[in-house]
Amino acid sequence: MCGIVGYIGTRDAYPVLIKGLKRLEYRGYDSAGVALLNGDTTIYKKKGKVSELEDYVRGKETKSTIGMGHTRWATHGEPNDVNAHPHQSEKGLFTIIHNGIIENYSVLKKTLMDQGMKFYSETDTEVLANLIEYIYTSEDVSVEVAISLALQKVVGAFGLVAISSEDPNLMIAARRSSPLVIGLGNNEYFIASDATPIVEYTDRVIYLNNDDIALIRRDELILKNLVSETTKVNIKTLEMSISEMEKQGYEHFMLKEIFEQPRSIMDTFRGRIQTETNEIRLGGLLDVKDQLVNAKRIVVIACGTSWHAGLVGEYLIEDLARIPVEVEYASEFRYRNPMIGPDDVVLAISQSGETADTLAAIQLAREAGALVLGICNVAGSSISRETHAGVYTHAGIEIGVASTKSFTAQVTVLTMMAIMIGKEKGLLSEQRFSQLIKELYAVPAKIEKILELNDEFKRIAEIYKDASNALYLGRGVSFPVALEGALKLKEISYIHAEGYPAAEMKHGPIALIDANMPVVFIATMDGSYDKIVNNIQEVKARNGEVIAIVTEGDTIIREMADHVIEIPKSDESLVSLTAVVPLQLIAYHIALMRGCNVDQPRNLAKSVTVE
Ligand code: GLU
Repeated sequence: MCGIVGYIGTRDAYPVLIKGLKRLEYRGYDSAGVALLNGDTTIYKKKGKVSELEDYVRGKETKSTIGMGHTRWATHGEPNDVNAHPHQSEKGLFTIIHNGIIENYSVLKKTLMDQGMKFYSETDTEVLANLIEYIYTSEDVSVEVAISLALQKVVGAFGLVAISSEDPNLMIAARRSSPLVIGLGNNEYFIASDATPIVEYTDRVIYLNNDDIALIRRDELILKNLVSETTKVNIKTLEMSISEMEKQGYEHFMLKEIFEQPRSIMDTFRGRIQTETNEIRLGGLLDVKDQLVNAKRIVVIACGTSWHAGLVGEYLIEDLARIPVEVEYASEFRYRNPMIGPDDVVLAISQSGETADTLAAIQLAREAGALVLGICNVAGSSISRETHAGVYTHAGIEIGVASTKSFTAQVTVLTMMAIMIGKEKGLLSEQRFSQLIKELYAVPAKIEKILELNDEFKRIAEIYKDASNALYLGRGVSFPVALEGALKLKEISYIHAEGYPAAEMKHGPIALIDANMPVVFIATMDGSYDKIVNNIQEVKARNGEVIAIVTEGDTIIREMADHVIEIPKSDESLVSLTAVVPLQLIAYHIALMRGCNVDQPRNLAKSVTVE
């Protein structure tokens, strides 16, 4: 959460910062601000979007070749101009931007107040700025040492960029738990919380590790740890293009990303399936394949949409590979003394690879001796570095805050894993293996067909756009699809929606059903088809409005439902990949019709890097 961008070099910093903030705005949009160092430090900050900051700064002095910018996702203190970053220390010697939470901020604040320091904002970040200044002035140390000492006293997470009028040619970046990337140019450096603002200037980057401090001057970068030992600089090459970060003619990133799914799914399985030898080869798992295949249990840890993908994984791995799977919310797993040990394989799923709770859960699982694997989308992310092995989804950069193509890419990886393990264990015949692979290859074309129904989804959205509640029901592997459909609707349209296993409806939600309640059934032809038909009847008997996702050619449900959406027939195991697409588009259209900001829904932010 929160976007950080910094620049030190020979160009005008301000345009680099504003452009970078726009690229990063999907990470937080409560407020935006910049600090420019040109002898003195000038700060401009405003509640609201980056464009509001831009309007505010227009015509004002911005000359500087060192600066930093921030888009906030508020944790401490409401989104307003004062709480916006950058924050300055009391005497103005230090200016910082921060992503994360200083968990011991209240103790530190009290100590500093007892020393007579004044605070103007409600943020935890200002406490850190003042702590640095307090150490600097009372201990008579250098800027670098003051920052290191302050960070040693901090409990919590930070991605931090600092400048000081005391050393005006120095920019300092440091991280613990919150990500930071540094781009290396010619006598210039770019700092950001992800690579999106950097990619147009350079493809040479350094990903900071926990407790790294980077001391950056125009002509040198020195990496140290918190106790001032120099550490090795490991330069990586970025694989990202600018066009991926643009809307490419689509009205919203979310729409573009939904429409990209045929390609992103294909990119995720391409090169990993050998049809000639009937083999699935997941390069990142080769070294741990035996341990994975022989796992006694797999524990999936994830949050949000990734957790839903994990639930699909549970169905697939248990069905095809016969390994018991538990799917855990990372935030619950890490705080409840989970039973985990060396016989377990833990599978962490996260689009950004930076989800704070998932990272903490990985740590815990590693300490307990489990083999920890990752599925994430962002190359070089913390999860990809902190797991023993893993598989990347090749979904391409996802900017819409509501995940779409990452879900289907994650499910694609989980499908390949399940099939691979099932094959290795001798549970899948050559024929069943080939059939599943053929089905997987066919998914992109099926999604293309579903996307052609967009106008139909718009029509359905028009009918239900004023609903206050909605229920999504599915059975088996369609249950997680129901959860994901409900999540999409609530997060972008603010309509209250619940996903349930269809049979559970009778244990509560059925009480809500009346003529104003749209009920979306994922009712494709599978093993529980007859049962779901009964559930539809039960809703109709109570005057509920039924929208059903059915298999092409279904005539039975057409008779009962108010609206049917026909999707191409799939193997039962793979139906989540196609059935979710109409739900994504219906949510999109409803949100749009209700005037909501689809790409940046209120209160949310992409990449949840705070716990
Ligand atoms: N905790 C800080 C604040 O509330 C930083 C939040 C963020 O990551 O944007 O201002």
